[in-house]
Amino acid sequence: MKYETVIGLEVHVQINTKTKIFCSCSTEFGKPPNANTCPICLGMPGVLPVLNKQFLESSMKACLATNCTIAPMNRFARKNYFYPDLPKGYQISQFEEPLGVNGHINIYLDGTKKRIGLTRIHMEEDAGKLIHGENLGSPENSYVDFNRTGVPLCEVVSEPDLRSAEEARAYLGELKAILEYTEVSDCNMEEGSLRCDANISIRPEGQKELGTRTELKNLNSFKFIQKAIEYEVDRQTRVLEQGDKVIQETRLYDSDRGETFSMRSKEEAHDYRYFPDPDLVPVVVDESWVAEIQKTIPELPEKKRSRFVTEFGIPEYDAGVLTSSRELADYFEKCTTLFSKPKIISNWIMGDLLRELNKSNKEIKDCPVSPEALINLLKLIDEGVISGNTAKEVFEDMYHTQKDPAAIVEEKGLKQITDDSAIDAMVEEVLQANLNSVEEFKGGKEKVLGFLVGQVMKASKGKANPGAVNKLLKEKMASM
Ligand code: ADP
Ligand code: MG
Ligand code: ZN
Repeated sequence: MKYETVIGLEVHVQINTKTKIFCSCSTEFGKPPNANTCPICLGMPGVLPVLNKQFLESSMKACLATNCTIAPMNRFARKNYFYPDLPKGYQISQFEEPLGVNGHINIYLDGTKKRIGLTRIHMEEDAGKLIHGENLGSPENSYVDFNRTGVPLCEVVSEPDLRSAEEARAYLGELKAILEYTEVSDCNMEEGSLRCDANISIRPEGQKELGTRTELKNLNSFKFIQKAIEYEVDRQTRVLEQGDKVIQETRLYDSDRGETFSMRSKEEAHDYRYFPDPDLVPVVVDESWVAEIQKTIPELPEKKRSRFVTEFGIPEYDAGVLTSSRELADYFEKCTTLFSKPKIISNWIMGDLLRELNKSNKEIKDCPVSPEALINLLKLIDEGVISGNTAKEVFEDMYHTQKDPAAIVEEKGLKQITDDSAIDAMVEEVLQANLNSVEEFKGGKEKVLGFLVGQVMKASKGKANPGAVNKLLKEKMASM
């Protein structure tokens, strides 16, 4: 039996605001425990929550950027459950009347476009954080930090439209990019600004009805999301193949063991007894307000990607990499205003630049090589002052010292040899020392040309111009 995988994601995104959702406490990450608290976010009796307008507007932005329809009226609801990190005994969320519905985003896998539906986007507050004693030296105690209580979140719920772990990953990547482009969230997964629950089921191919799903909670890295989903699909397949049934339950992923395990079954699931929050008025959003917010939406990743392909003539793949973040796209575009060879720029950014950033664990916004400096380097290659290989060495140097490329070339004496007679002599020498290769080349084995070029480059300590060497070798061999 062949099975089809069905996945729907619930993504929690922390929205960038200075203050919390219903009070004026700071949302700053990394403060001492309970520094960012007040009677409202601590759930004291008698306090009244007031909605943060900035949060509402950012949430509207998130809705519009994902093609959701914004409800003319939406309402907050209480989601009731008991847990020590939830001081009020309920979480203020939205239930029957969410802010946005019926959206979609497009994902691209191997060049094919696929539309993924968004069921809803709703606003809610985050809970606090429990810190268990073993990490603080007293294993018998648990501590609670309410700094995160009342931090504003949007929950983005997808339709069960995803068909593989790769699609889930692509969806999450696209959603993250949209949220970063619109600057509604920093989407920092390490700090928990973007968290994902994956609902997964499988069904026999061709069957319309959805299979029983399990929910994987709190996946917080792209790598784990993909691995956890893959594991869970395998597990469910094994269960069905043994003639058993998948049990609807919540599971967790153990990244050390690479396995999922059961956290609670449907029978233990919560009954949240949702009801409209009587402390908060319904939120009315009129058309002109929506139109105002719409104006603040920048060019989104999908649009930018296709514009890069048509405007700069670079491959789809390059455009995808370069638009994966707004800063990277801006960096590339800045470069194109300084130098008119976009594909060369793209190669350097995707290759050496991203490699160095990766190695030093830096983001493009902290890149020590400015677009101007990179272009100065590319111009040195273009003008034949240095070879492409030498440029790689210079680039590494620039990255670490922030020196001007021309200065590095000067200092290290890396200029290409432009003296033809010097190159001529080296070519001659290499040919004489490799007469059998010359024979092979003449016999049709063109691959040896690369070897011979390499030998000359070595003799010149990388300072000969490979193009010129290539040409000269061919000329000389033709008359041998
Ligand atoms: P809940 O809030 O109880 O988790 P929802 O009905 O809101 O339930 O579904 C949450 C997510 O689960 C959505 O993203 C939805 O697309 C997905 N989903 C629902 N049924 C299935 C299924 N059978 N297989 C995979 N995903 C599913
Ligand atoms: Mg759920
Ligand atoms: Zn507060």
